[in-house]
Parts: sequence; C-alpha cells; structure tokens
Amino acid sequence: MRHNRAVTVPPIHLYDTRRRAVVPFEPVVPGKASIYTCGPTVYGPQHLGNMRSQLLPDLLRRVLRAGGYDVTFVTNVTDVGHLVSDADEGDDKVEAAAAETGQSVEEITGHWTEQWAGDRRRLGMLEPDRVPYASKHVPEQIAMIQTLEAQGRTYVIDDGVYFDVSTYPEYADFAHLNLDDLEATGRVENVSDKRHPADFALWKLSPPDSARLQEWDSPWGRGFPGWHIECSAMATKYLGRHFDIHTGGIDHVRVHHTNEVAQSECALEQHPWVNIWMHNEFLDVGTEKMSKSKGHVLTVQTLVDEGIDPLAFRYFFLQAHYRQQQNFTIDLVRSAGTALRRIVHHAVAARDAVGGDASGADAARTEPLRAAFWEALADDLNGPRALAVVASVARDPELSDADRWSLLADFDQVLGFGLADATDPEAADDSADDPRIAGLLADRTAARADKDWAEADRIRDLLAAEGLEIVDTPDGPQARRR
Ligand SMILES: [Zn+2]
Repeated sequence: MRHNRAVTVPPIHLYDTRRRAVVPFEPVVPGKASIYTCGPTVYGPQHLGNMRSQLLPDLLRRVLRAGGYDVTFVTNVTDVGHLVSDADEGDDKVEAAAAETGQSVEEITGHWTEQWAGDRRRLGMLEPDRVPYASKHVPEQIAMIQTLEAQGRTYVIDDGVYFDVSTYPEYADFAHLNLDDLEATGRVENVSDKRHPADFALWKLSPPDSARLQEWDSPWGRGFPGWHIECSAMATKYLGRHFDIHTGGIDHVRVHHTNEVAQSECALEQHPWVNIWMHNEFLDVGTEKMSKSKGHVLTVQTLVDEGIDPLAFRYFFLQAHYRQQQNFTIDLVRSAGTALRRIVHHAVAARDAVGGDASGADAARTEPLRAAFWEALADDLNGPRALAVVASVARDPELSDADRWSLLADFDQVLGFGLADATDPEAADDSADDPRIAGLLADRTAARADKDWAEADRIRDLLAAEGLEIVDTPDGPQARRR
C-alpha cells in the first residue's frame, strides 16, 4: 500500500535499562535492526501479562520497520532448564508439570507452545523471524560454558557447573545491584555450596541415581543447561556477537538478564553485547502481579469468553506506556474494545468512501497529524500519545475521507488493527431488519424443532460465512455481526 507520506519517521530514541536513559537507536549494522526477546517457558498457559512482554517487541519491530530498518526478530521457546525458583533450586518447570499431569514432555511443550503462538496471532502480532527451542541448542550452550571454563570463570559442585561472579567485577552494574546486600539477604538459600549467592548455574547435573525426562551428556556429566545460558547461546547464534536490542519483562532485570550479560560479555569478550535493553512493566491485576504460580491465569481466551475481541487488548496495551505498570480489569479492556470499534468504524467509512485510494489527501491538513503520531512513537514508543492522535484523526470533522484514510492506513502499520480488510463493527444488528436473514433464522428454528441438526448447522455455517453469529436472546435467536 502506498501513502502520500511527506513525513518520515524521526530518529528513534529508546530507553536503555543498562544506561538508565533514553538513547538514540544507532544500529550495529547500518539499515538493520536485530531484536531478541525472552520467550515463554512452555509448561503452562501464557497469561496476558506474558503477552504484554510480547506486545512490546511487536510494537518496537513495527516502529523500526516504519523507520526504514530491515528488522530481524528472534524469540525463543524455553522447553528445558527454567527452574521453579530463580535461585537455582527446585525442579525444572517442564519436568514438574510432566510429573504432575502424567503427560509427556512433548505433549506439554507442544501444547503450550501452540497456545502461545495462537494467542500471538489472535493479538495481531507479526510472526517472529525465528523461534529457537532451548532443547535444540544444547551443543551451542555447552560450547559457551566451555569457553567460560577455559577462562577460569566457572567451578563445579555436586549439583552443577556455576558461573563465578567474582571473576567479573562489572556483574552488579547492569541492574545496579548491591552484592553485599545480596549476600546479607541470601537471595539463594539452599544451594549452600555456592561460593557467592549471586553465582548461577550454567549446567545442572542429573542426580547420580536417577534419570530425568530431558537430559544430555556433557563434559561435566549428564544433565541439562541452565535457563540463562539458553538465551545467551541462542541470541548469539542467530543475531551475532553484538546486536541491537534485547527485551523482556521487568522481572528479568535482576537475575536472568544480569546473568545473560555476565556470561555473554565474558564468553564473547564483547562489551556491550547488546546495545539497548528494554523492559516492560507488569500488568497489575489487583494487589499482586499476574503470575502462573498465584492462580490468576487470565489469557487471551478469557477475553474471548467474555465476548471481547482480542485486538481490544492490543488497543489496551497502547493506552499505557510500556514502562508504566498498567491496571488490568476486564471492564478496562472492554472499554478499549469500544474505543477500537469507533476507530475501525470511522476508518472503514473513510476507506470505502474513497475506494481505498488516499491520493486526494491534503498534505497541509494531514502532515502535522502524521508527524505527531510518528514523533510520539519515535520517543521511546509513546503509545498513549500516539493513540490520542489516532482518536482525534478518526473523528476530526475537518478531515476529508481521503485525509482520514491516508493517515489511518499509514498508522495501521504500527497499530496492527487490520484496517485495510476490516468490516464496519458498528454495522452490526442491521441484520435484524433483513428479511432474508430473518427467514434463515426461522428456518433454523424449525429445523431444530424437527431435530434436523444437519440443516440447522448448515444455516448456522451459512450465516457464519457472512460474518454473523447466532445469539439466543429473550426475543428468540438473532444474528449478530462478530
Ligand atoms: Zn532470556
């Protein structure tokens, strides 16, 4: 699709957790952008808080792409090595789920990987360029541990191979940790043979008398890789020894990303390993953060079950800056859905009025609005400010249809609402006055009364093909636009 764009995306600035500042995006390779995001641990459902951590890189990719960069996006699947506790203790999460459910590792990881991928699609995210699995990259992880061992940065104790943080004086810098405090508060209580509480497992050894469901031979004995080394090895393999942006949830800063930085910068002898680290804040579902371990499992399916379009959550995501905690309630997402429907309604009306051709747009009217939208996003992905421009463009009476469609079609590169193909969501319920549809509904009711289920299903499918679903109401069945 071509737009009359006089304005290009201004230079992009992003907040870097390591430097604690908004910095200009300066790519390692001119014209390209490489992004790695910590993906799901596939032992259970990915909740909406996890999806916020995926929506951040989706927004980032789209903004960089609109800015003219050739973007490569890698996000992994952690199917082994993520322990129940961040403290190098407890069982592997997938292994624990297998013991609890009696399912095989493949059943568990296959099922939850598919749930994650399906929910990404329902939220309108672009497909990743690569989705590497930790279990398929064990040799790369062993090689990285061997490099660290050769550098004298590791030691072996009963339960595994550990990274010795005393060999890397910059360890605390990334997250501004106080290592003396860590020692005092005992971040890690139970792995008592560790020399320092911050030392972390690179390779966990299987107990000598028992086999695990997932284990591999290594120079140190049979076992499995630690969670942190997975991301370092896979990111390096697919994005190189120095890449642009690494993202993840804010909860990864103190342990997972601190450890990724330590082992990668040591093994690769590369500083910085990653130019910009971006972290999204939590989704707040009440008094505590959403977490699989606490019983609040709100997923994309929860929204669908509530009759909410998953794209409403995309809109909701943009309503808060990614670095702010965002309060989540079903009603707030429902309101986001209402606002989204208004925008789609105006966009579709403008699009259809000009037959999808925005060439008649008046640059004097559109370009200041276009500039405001892209300036907001180039300023550390300011979603709320960009969304305010979208809302005003949708209803501004000064704009012609060509103006409106020129802007909204352009903005949709980042919004991802599918405006080019959308149908008007507010054209719903007109079908109640359509005698043909009323006739079909009456036929279906009669078919059901005759227990002619095949005919009833045929009529349901016919309506579904027109984007209508049958809803039972006190006035009998009605066809509503989905
Ligand atoms: Zn990671």
